[in-house]
This record gives sequence, C-alpha cells and structure tokens, in this order.
Amino acid sequence: MADLELVVAGGSVIGGGATSRRDLGIASGTIVALEASIDPPVGVPVLDAGGCLVAPGLVDLHTHLRQPGREEAETVETGARAAALGGFTAVVAMPNTDPAIDSAAVARQILELGRKAMAEVVVAGAITVGRGGQALAPMGELADLGVRLFTDDGVGVQDGALMRRALDYAKGLGVTLAQHCEDECLAGGGVMHEGCWSSRLGLPGIPAAAEESMVARDIALSRLTDAPVHFLHLSTAGSVELVRRAKAEGLRVTAEAAPHHMLLTHDLVAGYDPVFKVNPPLRTAEDVAAVVGGLCDGTIDAIATDHAPHPPEAKDVPFDTAPPGMLGLQTALPIAWQVLGARLSPERIFALLTSQPAAIAGLSAAQRNGEATSAQGGPIAPGAAANLCIFDPSGTTVVDPHRLASRSRNTPYAGQTFSGAVRHTVLRGEPVVVDGEAQR
Ligand SMILES: [Zn+2]
Repeated sequence: MADLELVVAGGSVIGGGATSRRDLGIASGTIVALEASIDPPVGVPVLDAGGCLVAPGLVDLHTHLRQPGREEAETVETGARAAALGGFTAVVAMPNTDPAIDSAAVARQILELGRKAMAEVVVAGAITVGRGGQALAPMGELADLGVRLFTDDGVGVQDGALMRRALDYAKGLGVTLAQHCEDECLAGGGVMHEGCWSSRLGLPGIPAAAEESMVARDIALSRLTDAPVHFLHLSTAGSVELVRRAKAEGLRVTAEAAPHHMLLTHDLVAGYDPVFKVNPPLRTAEDVAAVVGGLCDGTIDAIATDHAPHPPEAKDVPFDTAPPGMLGLQTALPIAWQVLGARLSPERIFALLTSQPAAIAGLSAAQRNGEATSAQGGPIAPGAAANLCIFDPSGTTVVDPHRLASRSRNTPYAGQTFSGAVRHTVLRGEPVVVDGEAQR
C-alpha cells in the first residue's frame, strides 16, 4: 500500500447493515483499503477518527446557494464551505436564482463554480421557464448536462395540466420532478401556519391544506403518468399520511423533510422574530411528531436542509414582510442525531442523509454509469469514492451565528447546543474539514 495518500484511523465504519471498527486507506480519491488496522507508511497523513462514526459524506437534496443573483446572501463557495463543515460532500443547488436555472447556460455557470468548491455541487433545473409556471423549461438540454432533478422550488407548479405535461416529459427523459407543495390560492398571502398562534398574533395563516391539496394532486398525477414525484420539505401530518398511502399503493413517490420541521413549532413565532419565518411554515407539535414518525417508518426518504440564507438587512424587517428561510447546513446532522437517536439506529439515521438522498438525486454509483469512484452516498467499501463524514457522537455542536461559514446569519438555533459534532469531512480523498475547521 505504498501509494496511500490518507489513512482514516480508529473509527467505527457505518454500512453493510452493521457498524464495525475499521481503518480506511485512501488513494487517488478512492477507498483502497478497509481493514481492522492499517499501519500508515511514513509521511502519509492520518485522520484520527477515534470515538467517531465514519459515514459516507452527507448529500443534501435542497440547498439554496443564491448564486447567481443574490451573492450578498450566499455564494457557491461559501455555501459549499458550510456544507463541508456540516459533513456534506454533495449538495443539490436549487434553481430559484436570478436568473433561474432554466437553461444549460445558467446550469453550466454554477457547475463551473462548483468544481472548485469544498463539496460537490450539482444543480436542480427549473420545471418552467423563469419558474413562472407558464411554459415548460428546456428540460432536455439540462438533462443532457446531467441534471436529474427539476423543481420550481419557492413555488409549486400551480397548473395541474402543465404539471401533467411536465411529468410526461420528465418520464421520457428519465428525470424526477420535485414539488414545493403549496396551493397559492389557499396559502393566500399567509406568513405562518394557520392555527391558534396565527389567530393570537394577528398574522395571516397558511393552512395545512395548502400543502396537502398539492401533495394529493401530484400523487394523483404520478398515478396517471407513472412518472416519479419527489415531495420537498413535507411539513404536515396530513402530507405524511398521503405519502404513506401512496407508497403502500406502490406509486413512484419519494419525500424529504427539513430538520426544522423535525424540531420547531409555530409558537416560536410569538416574538415576531423573522428568523422563525420559513416556507412551509413551522407547524404544530402534532405535525412535528408526524414528520418524525414518517422518517422513522420509511415514509419520508431523506432529511434535506432547505438551507435558505438571507442577509441581516433582508431579515431585519417586520415579520410579515421578511423573506422566508433559515440556515441549515451546519446543524442538520446534530439535529437529526438528537431527534432520531433514541428511535433509529445510526445506520438508519445516516441512510436518511446519505444513500437515500443520493439515490433521489441520481448520484449513486449505479446511476453514475456504474462509476463507483464518482458516486455519492456510499457505501464505504474498497473501490468506492472517498467521500466521508466523520462524526463524533460524544461531541457537541454549539451554534454561534458569527462562526458559521454562510454569508448569512439567519439560524434559528443561535446559542443552542446539540449533541454530536462533525469532526472531519473528506471530499474525493481530500480532508476539507479537519477537527471541525475548514481547510480552505
Ligand atoms: Zn420550497
């Protein structure tokens, strides 16, 4: 093993149904050895994973990198650094940029910026031109670039007939449509969840039905077209139940949930702090329990951050005029660990953040033309890409907004401490995060 470039020593490797104590040898961006013990040759750097879980690098299905057009909020570079610090080695950049990612030219620009980034950056394309909901975007030219997910995220496709045509088109291309489920007429300018707290605070509400009616419509359209649909950021108990029944029926549906919908509830809006404004909005404790239940029973396939940076000047306005969104990349894994740790095995928690989102994003080895060396989401095995998240379950993550890598500061967790911490992140064999510090 004279050509080893890096050894990851002393960790417990997640995968293959069991977790076992193993050392990893890495060369040319690939895992080349997985053994009970590896004696590193002189001069080869060693990453200490003692006491840690060694998992595949995390994959985020839902990241807003804000470039092009909103670079004051985030850039590909800063967002990818936040991702790496959060243990992610791949992110799917959402297309609600300015201009929107609705052409090969814009997609190429972001992919080019992503080549130098600290995490792999792939893009989701828009379903409609300019995300305007009127005419289908040229999905074919985007699919030719390797784009596998399409969404108008930020808004849902309101026109059911257009969505049906988009599903037929997507099915022919072998790509997946991802829906931000929100009926705009029902949402009607609401700014928080419609319920006891919106009444008390005098703020216009978004009923759970605004989300659930579009989930139900798109399940019906998936049945009609036999095309896959991915549901973004499910937030209500009713949505989770609809997806559960659709899966039982054998329909081609998948779903994700955001960490904040696993933890935070609508009463937090009581102080009118715009940091708690997000879309879909924070819901009730019953909804949070249903989202967690959906993650535990396999109804929801992935945890996706919906990392949505906004600069202070944008958020420092009255609640009803502030833009929705909160940061998520650097807190997702500790929150998942804290919320799910008592109910799911480490293997299943990491599957929600690695192999399952990678499969939805088209980043697994089988989907990348069988090229294991460019795959995301694991497994950790000889011959596989060396994309790793090395997580210390006995560590702590203290959220200091001023130390986050994002250009923005809109975390709802300022000052909070979560159990567990990302110690190292390895991207294609390169240690991009070591002992919790970004290396570039
Ligand atoms: Zn959305």
